Amino acid sequence: MPEPVQTQVFDGMALANELRRQLAEEIEDLTKAGKRPPCLAVVLVGDDPASRSYIKGKQRACSRIGMDAVEHMLPASTSQDELLALLADMNADDAIDGILVQLPLPDAIDPTVIAEAIDPAKDADALHPMTAGRLVSGKYDIASCTPLGVLACLDHHRIPLEGANAVVVGRSQIVGKPVSLLLQLRNATVTMCHSRTRDLETICRSADVLVVAAGRPRMVGADWVKPGAAVIDVGVTEVDGKLVGDVDFDAVQGVAGLITPSRRGIGPMTITMLLRNTLHAYRTRKGL
Ligand code: NDP
Repeated sequence: MPEPVQTQVFDGMALANELRRQLAEEIEDLTKAGKRPPCLAVVLVGDDPASRSYIKGKQRACSRIGMDAVEHMLPASTSQDELLALLADMNADDAIDGILVQLPLPDAIDPTVIAEAIDPAKDADALHPMTAGRLVSGKYDIASCTPLGVLACLDHHRIPLEGANAVVVGRSQIVGKPVSLLLQLRNATVTMCHSRTRDLETICRSADVLVVAAGRPRMVGADWVKPGAAVIDVGVTEVDGKLVGDVDFDAVQGVAGLITPSRRGIGPMTITMLLRNTLHAYRTRKGL
């Protein structure tokens, strides 16, 4: 019987607040020097309540750090051409530094076409293929927000990544792939798993760092976790009106060395990295 492990629980809200304070100070310094604050433009097509609430959260986060936000709430009937025209205007508008198009989009709009229409210099949500390509090349300024949040969490807890066995469950464009690349750039040995992976449990149990982004509630139990491993639970699924992670949080306590909760875990870090990306895009474009 292995010794129980003292499990640290990541406080994503506390770290997010600390990082947002630093961003607010940077913006204050810029405005004191006579510069305008950075501005994030957010676009929502349709009236999905969850997306609407994410957008509101992002706008609130902007205003709290002194960043401007403009919103475009478009009806679900918006055509792809209309959205492309709006993006062209925003790309040309010097007062806009970051552009976020909230996903998912209605079926009539191809998200790949939209991602490619965002100016890479304003790609705060890291959707453009050029942004993804820069991450692949290892020379990136902006990267997907959730993966940057995962890395910030691991760094905050001083989890050694060099030579570590890292397992990522999920291979999506916005989470699994960029997390795997970021970990590889930090010299972890990365195994990327997905729905066709064989013997997932054994692979997960080999991980020093386990990042789970599958959207499968409580898929990872205590038996899947190596004692002392850092377990990052990105998944959030609503089950019976409650948000549930991909990791059985209660079961892995006493096994994992570090665990992120599904509330106040990686979520607040994702928004923080959106703010960080917008400020970064602003500074780069303006040479500041
Ligand atoms: P996607 O649905 O795009 O991707 C899910 C991935 O998980 C796919 O690669 C899929 O494999 C894999 N997968 C699904 N089921 C299994 C399984 N049983 N075993 C192994 N792999 C599996 O999701 P996202 O990446 O967009 O999001 C993942 C989760 O993270 C969701 O719960 C989402 O809500 C959450 N999320 C949370 C964020 C936050 O800020 N906290 C931000 C973004 C996402 P395959 O490719 O073979 O289909």
